[in-house]
Amino acid sequence: MAWLGDLTDGAVIIAIVVINALIGFFQEYHAGKSLDALRRMTAPRAKVRREGKSVVIAAAEIVPGDVIEVLAGDVVAADARVIKAAGLSCVESALTGESEAVEKIIDTISDKSAALGDRKNMLFSGTSVASGQGHGVVTATGMSTEMGRVAGLLAETADSEETPLQSRLGALGRSLVWLSLGIVFLIFVLGSLRGVPMSEMFLSSVSLAVAAVPEGLPAVVTVALALGVMRMSRHRALMRRLSAVETLGATGVICTDKTGTLTVGEMTVREIYVAGSSFSVTGEGYGPNGEVLFEGRATEPRHAGPLLELGNILIGCNNAELILDDGGWRIAGDPTEAAMLSAGHKAGARRETIEQNHPKHHEIPFDSIRKRRTVVRLLPDGRLRAQVNGAPDELVGECSQILGDDGPRAITDEDRRGILAENERMASGALRVLGAAYRDLDHAPAHLLSADVIERDLVFVGLTGMQDPPRAEARQSVAECHSAGVRVVMITGDQPHTARAIASELGIISKDERVMSGVEISAIPDDELRELVPQVAVYARVTPEHKLRIVRAWQARGSVVAMTGDGVNDAPAIKAADIGIAMGRGGTDVAREAADMVITDDNFATIVRAVEAGRGIFENIRKSLLHLLAGNAGEILVMTACVIAGLPLPLLPVHLLWINLLTDSLPALCLAIDPADPAVMSDKPRARDKALADSSFWRTVAFTGGVVALVVMAVFLFSLHHGSLDIARTHAFTALVFADVLRAFGGRSRFVPVWRISLLTNPWLLAIVASTVALQTLMITLPSAAAMLQSVVIPAADVLVLLLIAFLPALALEIRKVLMRRTIP
Ligand code: ADP
Ligand code: MG
Repeated sequence: MAWLGDLTDGAVIIAIVVINALIGFFQEYHAGKSLDALRRMTAPRAKVRREGKSVVIAAAEIVPGDVIEVLAGDVVAADARVIKAAGLSCVESALTGESEAVEKIIDTISDKSAALGDRKNMLFSGTSVASGQGHGVVTATGMSTEMGRVAGLLAETADSEETPLQSRLGALGRSLVWLSLGIVFLIFVLGSLRGVPMSEMFLSSVSLAVAAVPEGLPAVVTVALALGVMRMSRHRALMRRLSAVETLGATGVICTDKTGTLTVGEMTVREIYVAGSSFSVTGEGYGPNGEVLFEGRATEPRHAGPLLELGNILIGCNNAELILDDGGWRIAGDPTEAAMLSAGHKAGARRETIEQNHPKHHEIPFDSIRKRRTVVRLLPDGRLRAQVNGAPDELVGECSQILGDDGPRAITDEDRRGILAENERMASGALRVLGAAYRDLDHAPAHLLSADVIERDLVFVGLTGMQDPPRAEARQSVAECHSAGVRVVMITGDQPHTARAIASELGIISKDERVMSGVEISAIPDDELRELVPQVAVYARVTPEHKLRIVRAWQARGSVVAMTGDGVNDAPAIKAADIGIAMGRGGTDVAREAADMVITDDNFATIVRAVEAGRGIFENIRKSLLHLLAGNAGEILVMTACVIAGLPLPLLPVHLLWINLLTDSLPALCLAIDPADPAVMSDKPRARDKALADSSFWRTVAFTGGVVALVVMAVFLFSLHHGSLDIARTHAFTALVFADVLRAFGGRSRFVPVWRISLLTNPWLLAIVASTVALQTLMITLPSAAAMLQSVVIPAADVLVLLLIAFLPALALEIRKVLMRRTIP
């Protein structure tokens, strides 16, 4: 008969071990699936022409024969024959090793053996468009492309990437295994010396070893990371690398774009300056209904000519579109250009007239280094007119004439001063100011019309000042960063006055902080920049290369830097940053490919929320780990103490395994998916390499384990004194189960006392703890169940008393929390 008893024992033990393993597997599987879903969300897309319209489709849906449209910053999604090219060039280093961009042409190439790099009328999948725009007819997709052939040889490896945290925890887990085995061996030896029967000692030691090893750890980490990443994606922040999540939480400096990220990115021209006079512009949003007013009244006849000329440039050098639908005026294209389009209309110019009389001949797209855009149009007499829009402070330097009330005349220094003063006045009012100019040229083929040939000797026409209000939520997000010890730095291509005006509205810049311009950055060496960055809150008129230097300077000071970017040229800075952030709406593919995180609403508040989530995820992993290890510490301490004291073992193997399943793994899992502790943003950022399990972590583990062990020992000794060993064991076992699950509530925050955390924000934990308490009560009040756990039936009153006693460790932990809080101001 004794055999039978052992057999059921064995079965129960095996069942518990199997269930444990299944839970681990299920968690891993779930986490893996969430990551797949994420990966799909960030999959490449492409613009193709279908049924006469251009539509954006998943790159995987492109078929040969499709016409794809590419623009500077795109990653080409298929191999294609170029049929239209405007300043189009591609970087094909991934295929050819050549880092210089290749100019694309539409001509036929008859050399059959031309190398890839010489097939200039082809676009290759996976390469990036460095400048310009163009169309191509798809010739090959997927694995049949040139890139596919190369890639086919390489297996995908990125998927199995382990984050630094995971590998560090893996190492921790392994050392814990050895540590536990050591302790178990010690207990075994001590017990045997004390004369406990070998067989009993052996089973107990093995069970203790199983219980002590935190096998739930890898699953808990994966679940915390994957679930956190899923939650972030719901809040419009897509992580492209799992490992970035941990770094994100340590972010100390956020370098952010201004336009569209801190501001709403919806622009409306409010002021115009032409022929020495200032005008105000009425109207709401992008709607072209509004008026240009001179000193609050209708304009005078002498203004008509210059205003119309300005309007012609605003509309002529413009790729945006205004669309009227049910919701009002929408735009397609760049908001800056859309605003100019609307203003040009208000100034009296019409797009149809321009396109009819002066068809487009050539264009030089905007780039963030030139900070302007040019369109060359064909005049009726066969000559050409270049229309230029761009940064006024730099444009003025390229102008040799100015358009006055009666036509162009030579520009004087006084004119220049007037223009710049007006520019500064508008910019100080937080307006984004652009200048407009033109130039007439003799006819020439498009390929001879490069920026440095055309964009000089211009006739200055006027300025437009557009409003782009700061985002309502940005001010609060900036304040949140400040209380979280995170520095916010604004980086913009816009000019210093506009940048400072917006930055002070948002609380980014204080009186004693400064605005630094790109020119100033260029003038100083890296080590000097490193000394200066702490005083600089705003960088204006920067180029992407400056962004890279700013990232490096902060990193050299030991900060973890997050940097946003949208253009092709931003990729190096995004890559260099600890957290590279790309814009999902406004950004380019190249920027997205370089990024660790893509924010889909281009909103600064989303970045801050992501940092908070990153901190929360890190904190959750810490909480889980703490719960697991403190539980193990308690069990080991109780067992060791009893063996040393020569007492009978308080916990039997089946008890240890049961505790392992119920009170350790499940609550730890619930802590891993806890909502981010709001208190995480009241702390300073974590140091870059600070370990998850630092000394304060181990102190808490020891304290928790110690208090739990003390309470369980007391219960055991007390009932051993008053009753049988079986009753004492049941009491100790139950007290441990209760104490372990109850302390999980307080474990949800290391700062906030438990009575200030709502139970309802983590219903899972509440459910798990409640059902554990219920199940445990059931197991020791039903005779057959109690036998299965090698326990005896105890009266309900005992259970109640044990439950009350089990609150003691949780209480001790809360008191400690409050006392610690007091010592750390
Ligand atoms: P940011 O995004 O930081 O505001 P950008 O790099 O977009 O800066 O722009 C820098 C400058 O280039 C602007 O201040 C403006 O003068 C000019 N600019 C921006 N967009 C256009 C455009 N579409 N056409 C002409 N000039 C532009
Ligand atoms: Mg921009």
